[in-house]
Amino acid sequence: MELRVLGCSGGIGVKRRTTSFLVDTDILIDAGSGLGDLTLDEMASIRHVFLTHSHLDHLNFLPLMVDSIFDRISSPVLVHAQPATLKVLKDHIFNWDIWPDFSTLPTADKPVMAYQEMAPGAVIEIAGRSIEMIPVNHIVPAVGYRVESSQGGSFAFSGDTANNNTFWTALNRHASLDLLIVEAAFSNKDEALSKKARHYCSKTLAEDIVQLQHRPPVYLTHTKPGEEETIFSECQQLFGGRELHQLQVGERFHLK
Ligand SMILES: [Zn+2]
Ligand SMILES: [Zn+2]
Repeated sequence: MELRVLGCSGGIGVKRRTTSFLVDTDILIDAGSGLGDLTLDEMASIRHVFLTHSHLDHLNFLPLMVDSIFDRISSPVLVHAQPATLKVLKDHIFNWDIWPDFSTLPTADKPVMAYQEMAPGAVIEIAGRSIEMIPVNHIVPAVGYRVESSQGGSFAFSGDTANNNTFWTALNRHASLDLLIVEAAFSNKDEALSKKARHYCSKTLAEDIVQLQHRPPVYLTHTKPGEEETIFSECQQLFGGRELHQLQVGERFHLK
C-alpha cells in the first residue's frame, strides 16, 4: 500500500496545499487543494473519496475534480462520508448555486459521482484495503480514518479534532499501527482559539497522545501557515521521546 501526501497544510501560500491524501491510485482521503496537483489521468483513477468532515479546506477541490474528469470515467466516483457531511455537500456545494449537482450529471442514471453514507465505526473493504471510519471531536461532525492493507501495513489519520478518546481508543483496539498522521493546527499561544475551533494545539495533542499504546512515527499535519516550526518544536518537547516529523507535501510512504 502506498500513501501519497497531496496536501497537509492548515492553509495556503507558496507550496502549501490543504488536506488531501492518495492511497495507492484509487482512494482519496479528503479533497483539499493538494488534489489539484494531480494529472487528469491520476484524477480519473480515483474511484473512492473518503471525507473527514464538511469544512472547505478538506473538500474544496472535489467539485472541480469531478468537473475535470467526467468525460474520462465510465462509473461514478463514490464519495463516502457520514450522513451529516453528505448533507452539507448536497445542500451547500452541489446545489446548482455554488456548483452543479454532479450526482445527476452528465445523466441521472450515469452520474460522475455518487454519495455513499458511512456510519462512524464502520469499516469498508476495497480491493485488499480496509478503511475504518472513527469519530473525533470537531466543531462539525467529523471523523478520522484508519487504513490497513491485507498484508498488514496500516496508517491512521485524525482529520480535524480537539481532545477526544474515541480516536485513540479505536487505534488501540488493533494489534499494530505503522504510521500516525495527526493534526496539530495551532501552537500553544493559540490554545484558547484552538479550543473554540476544536482543533489541537501542541499542548492538548500532547495530553491526548499518551493514550496511544502503539509507538509509530508521528507526522504532524494541518499546521497553521507560518507556525510550522513553532508547533513542531513545542510537540518535540512534550511528546516524551516519540519519533516525530512534520508531514511534507509530496511525501510518499510505502506500507506493507
Ligand atoms: Zn475542520
Ligand atoms: Zn481543516
